[in-house]
Amino acid sequence: MKIVSYNVKNFRQIEYMKMLPEEVKHEIEIVSRVLPFKANNYVIDYLIDWANYETDPCYILTFPNKHMLKQEDYNEIKEAVETGLPENEITKIANKIRLSLNPHPAQQESNIPSLNGEPLPGVQHKYRDIALFFPTQGQTCHANCTFCFRWPQFVKDLDLQFSMKEIDRVCDYFKQHEHLHELLFTGGDPMIMSPRTISKYIDKIFEADIPNLKTIRFGTKSLTWWPFVFLPEYNDEAQEMLDLFKRIVDGGLHLSIMAHFNHYQEMETDAVRQAVKNIRATGAEIRTQSPLLNNINASADIWAEMWDKQVSMGMIPYYMFIERETGPYQYFQVPLAKAYDIYTKAIRKTSSLAKTVTAPSMSAAMGKAQILGVQENPLNGEKYFNIQYIRHRDYKQSYKPFLMHYDEEATWIDQLKPVEKVELVNG
Ligand code: SF4
Repeated sequence: MKIVSYNVKNFRQIEYMKMLPEEVKHEIEIVSRVLPFKANNYVIDYLIDWANYETDPCYILTFPNKHMLKQEDYNEIKEAVETGLPENEITKIANKIRLSLNPHPAQQESNIPSLNGEPLPGVQHKYRDIALFFPTQGQTCHANCTFCFRWPQFVKDLDLQFSMKEIDRVCDYFKQHEHLHELLFTGGDPMIMSPRTISKYIDKIFEADIPNLKTIRFGTKSLTWWPFVFLPEYNDEAQEMLDLFKRIVDGGLHLSIMAHFNHYQEMETDAVRQAVKNIRATGAEIRTQSPLLNNINASADIWAEMWDKQVSMGMIPYYMFIERETGPYQYFQVPLAKAYDIYTKAIRKTSSLAKTVTAPSMSAAMGKAQILGVQENPLNGEKYFNIQYIRHRDYKQSYKPFLMHYDEEATWIDQLKPVEKVELVNG
């Protein structure tokens, strides 16, 4: 199967697109000046329900629309395009809007560590036991998700990207930090790299012989957007990729594929079912994660079905995230109270093996904050969120539940007010 990529330059050639109203296509062209999109023939031909494109989750995940920008930003870029401003002027406006979209939420820049006094620009080390590695060749994706919190990785004309190639320095960093046990390849999507490129990184890791390294993770949406990465009958390089996975496992490292699934609709093709089987046959495990997204999956039934399907396919539900405050946040955000309600309704419906999921969880500046519940003070009826950090920059601060004032509209932990002990005692 040969990949055919689409972006703003050629998306009008897509047969299904020809049937859509002209104003829809024009809108895509305008919004993509700020939020670039990318699709491929698998997403177009197998995942999108074109008859219901306006509400179809895979269509909305793929193509930007005007509601993904603030009204004033949309108007500004639309006017720039329609009045025919020179390209460099349009780019200036697009970049100004991008920079206002909080490109690096949760202070990601502060996670960049140093080795012997020199920064490691393609590494993030926030939690004690795991470091993220952004290999230079993996900083793009098979298709760009419209909600993506890593969108600055795809914007070439702004200096916003984390990336590096020097895995030797990453290995040295691991050796200097013996509590580091896990290395997560991330991006973009590391599975966009050829197996040969990934092998070179893995060879160096094995050569470095790092006693404290126990687990390799690959964060990827390839199972959803291009499962042929793992299907030898369709892709000449797939067997090499599967062999590489097996080599990692046989070499004594635990291998976990962190698969992004945003909707059960993405799990309904023969291609994805076979890809999951092939990966599992290598000895790797697959854990699944997704943000909770308005306009895509903000319903308990969708999540319950997604988790149950994942379990029946042999995958492990891992995270339901709260959408991060970046990019087209206002379009996808779900208030914390609603998120907790969706989570509890969904998890009650699932089989017990799906209850491995940690949710709802915010990847905030200090760590991953999980909402444990909503509690009411019986003395005055005041409501609170019960929250804990399941990961914290200071690991000793994790798993310590605390209360924050309930706020029906809040969408992130920093919008909540802390609770003083005296308030609870006095009722
Ligand atoms: S696969 Fe992940 S990194 Fe790539 S566009 Fe989607 S959310 Fe972003």
